[in-house]
Amino acid sequence: MKKSFLTYEKLLEIEKEYETPFHIYDEKGIIDNAKELLEAFSWNKGFYEFFAVKATPNPHILKILDGLGIGADCSSYAELKMCEKAGIKNIMFSSNETELEEYKYASKLGAIINLDDITHIDYIKDEIKIPEKMCLRYNPGGVFKLGNDIMDNPKDAKYGMTKDQIIEAIIKLKELGVKEFGIHSFIASNTVTNEYYPYIARMIFELILEVKEKVDVNFTFVNLSGGIGVPYKPEQEKNDIKKISEGVKKAYDELIKNNGLELAIYTELGRYMLAPYGNLIVKAIHEKHIYKEYIGVNSCATDLMRPAMYGAYHHIVVLGKENMPCDHTYDIVGSLCENNDKFAIDRKLPKIEIGDRLAILDAGAHGQAMGYNYNGKLKCKELLLKQDGSVKLIRRAETLDDYFATLDFSEFK
Ligand SMILES: *Cc1c(COP(=O)(O)O)cnc(C)c1O
Repeated sequence: MKKSFLTYEKLLEIEKEYETPFHIYDEKGIIDNAKELLEAFSWNKGFYEFFAVKATPNPHILKILDGLGIGADCSSYAELKMCEKAGIKNIMFSSNETELEEYKYASKLGAIINLDDITHIDYIKDEIKIPEKMCLRYNPGGVFKLGNDIMDNPKDAKYGMTKDQIIEAIIKLKELGVKEFGIHSFIASNTVTNEYYPYIARMIFELILEVKEKVDVNFTFVNLSGGIGVPYKPEQEKNDIKKISEGVKKAYDELIKNNGLELAIYTELGRYMLAPYGNLIVKAIHEKHIYKEYIGVNSCATDLMRPAMYGAYHHIVVLGKENMPCDHTYDIVGSLCENNDKFAIDRKLPKIEIGDRLAILDAGAHGQAMGYNYNGKLKCKELLLKQDGSVKLIRRAETLDDYFATLDFSEFK
């Protein structure tokens, strides 16, 4: 049974200081999970996780991971800047349709640039100092299928280069002084299977062997990117990171070690590192009985967009009613003038009273980060439940002043 890391008793304590709605992150959960990842891949000497900042862009979260020897994968100028301000040193820069300013900044910070396209070489070569270590993003094209549940269409994805372009890019970049190369590929998101990473590792290892036959190149790392998923639904089985790592090791031993090569394995996990360790806590403020039963809450897609955007499932727990039967059916809805603003549809839950607090689970990644200000809705605060049980405000809620900051009313006075 899925449950929140937040007990009802703890909620009551927190509410003395902080009102709902808020995102709350579980430091202990984040640390234990990250340690398990590092331990699972400890067979690879150079293993390194660059946390995908876009999943949970908060410096306090980045610092927790930094303390464990985890860096950052940035996708934009703002994320680079956040890392610089937080003192995060080890950075991968995986962007696309990148502006020159962003490349300049990434180069200045000493980030490994993960190049999305071959045409970007000419775009940057006279403008920035080309780093000696570069990553190239590979798009295998075609259709990707793994088991019965995982399907994706790399041929329709805007990311990465073809095999021929990778080879050409390596030749060009070597001439520009690049000494160490790596290959990155990302073909499926939120994979709840132990087979995805071994699959993509094997694909990249094979590509590396093939490229090495055609061009003299010093590969020192591979970047397996993100994509390891979490079980959002109660019936889904959690990934086993040890099994995933064993699968990658098998491919590594066969294709890399047996060929006398050595590579560091890099990852850029976002969701896997944070999603389960964040909850969005909201309060029931209305109930409505029309053609369906609705519970209106004091939050909306601004705080968690995945259900509205992807129809994503997020499990919901009514705090304090964990042991009551789920014998009522509700749509749990936010306040946007958009009918997709539903945290849950036809969800079986205990009877909800006005004032009940609901924990929306697995909101720790791509949650607060994705929100927008449509309808003039303001993003809620973020709290950190620390290992010692204390609670720290790690981002205040947006205010109307924030919302109006880009407007000038002076001529209406
Ligand atoms: C989004 C993204 C990630 C993280 O993906 P998750 O599914 O959160 O693990 C990693 N790398 C790149 C390039 C991404 O765009």
